[in-house]
Amino acid sequence: MTPMEPATRLICPLTCGDPAGMRAAMLTAARRGAEMAECRLDFLCPPPSKTQLETLLSDPPVELIVTNRPTCEGGRFGGDDSQRLELLGQAAKCRPAFVDVEMSTPREDWPEAPIILSHHDFAECPDGLDAIVERLEASSAAVNKIVFTATRCEDAFRALDVLRACKKPTIALAMGEAGLLSRILARKFGAFGTFAALETGAESAPAQPTIDELKNLYRWDELGAETEVYGVIGYPAAHSLSPAVHNAAFSAGGLNAVYLPLLVQPGADNFKRFMDALLARPWLDWRGLSVTVPHKENALAYVGRENCDELSARIGAINTIRISRDGTLRGENTDYAAAMDALCAGMNITPPQLAGKSVAVIGAGGVARAIVAGLASHNANVTIYNRTIARGRRLAEEFSFQAAGLEETENTDAEVLINCTSVGMHPAVEASPLRQIAPSVKVVFDTIYNPLQTLLLRMAARAGCLTVSGVEMFTNQAAAQFKIWTDRPAPREVMRRVVLERLTGKR
Ligand code: NAP
Repeated sequence: MTPMEPATRLICPLTCGDPAGMRAAMLTAARRGAEMAECRLDFLCPPPSKTQLETLLSDPPVELIVTNRPTCEGGRFGGDDSQRLELLGQAAKCRPAFVDVEMSTPREDWPEAPIILSHHDFAECPDGLDAIVERLEASSAAVNKIVFTATRCEDAFRALDVLRACKKPTIALAMGEAGLLSRILARKFGAFGTFAALETGAESAPAQPTIDELKNLYRWDELGAETEVYGVIGYPAAHSLSPAVHNAAFSAGGLNAVYLPLLVQPGADNFKRFMDALLARPWLDWRGLSVTVPHKENALAYVGRENCDELSARIGAINTIRISRDGTLRGENTDYAAAMDALCAGMNITPPQLAGKSVAVIGAGGVARAIVAGLASHNANVTIYNRTIARGRRLAEEFSFQAAGLEETENTDAEVLINCTSVGMHPAVEASPLRQIAPSVKVVFDTIYNPLQTLLLRMAARAGCLTVSGVEMFTNQAAAQFKIWTDRPAPREVMRRVVLERLTGKR
């Protein structure tokens, strides 16, 4: 992008079925900050009359792109091609800023207007991507547009490769959840535009964000060539609270950074393929990753035990990767310290005061491992209770603790009880891993953070116990990641507020 060119345009596709609704949506899009709108004539049913078209396109509040996409290119215009092109030609006479024409449309049929020449692949990233890009670059169109479905995040990187390679103004986007990063990072790489829907349900392509998400969740207006990139690798990834929490923290800290959800299919091979593709592109300025289910063990294997802190290596999993400018990686696990701090804050003690405390841990999965390792490092006295007793025993043996079946928890003589199972988590909020809480228990910590008050915590409160919610652990682990990546203290209260807002639906 030359210094004279405007920043990447936020383009709102207008997908109403009637011209008056489309015009109203155009005004709303302008008010919400879209710099361009795309009138999808193929969504108008029946097709507009000449007068309706003129009313729709005259004196627009933002620059317009006019598109009349046929069904064979993923659009909705089902009539024959001469009717489609005739409508497009009529629209061109209203002098929109651009008319979008598919590469399959012969040159002699292009309307008289500045042209966005587009290619779509709804199945995958096309094999012949480079050849398509060469044809777009060689054409007389003003703007190149290439859009394809991402089956994995690496495909989204290919869209960014295209942006970097093209000399002409270009839109290159990957559709689908795995492609989201290409829509957001389009601005960092000087794309001509990116598309954002007016609201949920008005998308013109799969996983298109809304204007509100782009601006308020992904910091669109702050993004630029120098923006550093972070993200959370998971499967699923879209439900994660981490993008909201970390982007709010970057914003509060005045940092030029953005944090994205990254859908990476389960399996060590998929994790490696993603990381290799990311590290092969140092120009992404990728500086850090959170790692969640099911990739925490894969992340440790990829980064290498020698590049992780000692306790993470013992836990066998990491949830944080720091990427230095020279591409070297450092792995850490912020879960265990986050859990210990949450527990100690709730009990008003310091971590060393956990020594000798009798703790019942329910569960033997990934979170239980991190918590048991944390408790062991502070010399607490732990018993692990798990549904699958053999799994509980394996974990207990590693740390020289005792194990028992889940039903035994009701007879525990522990003072502190920590739930590390997923029982009671949204949406099954009326479930509890226990029917009753043993009389010895004085403190109950539930690692589940959605809902805020699990049935177990409500039972504990009724039994007179001190309760600690998983929200504190979640906030602590995210704050620790922020510190690892930025070397600055985290705006913990901002992060906690965002978690609570998201969980209570107050945002
Ligand atoms: P995981 O590795 O899949 O382990 C799940 C554990 O729950 C296992 O011990 C499993 O027992 C047990 N379990 C599952 N369904 C059960 C049932 N119906 N009855 C009894 N036990 C059952 O999961 P994880 O990664 O450890 O995560 C566990 C929970 O931690 C999550 O659900 C989440 O709410 C919470 N968490 C909190 C934070 C935070 O920051 N606060 C972060 C991550 C996770 P078996 O061994 O018998 O299968």
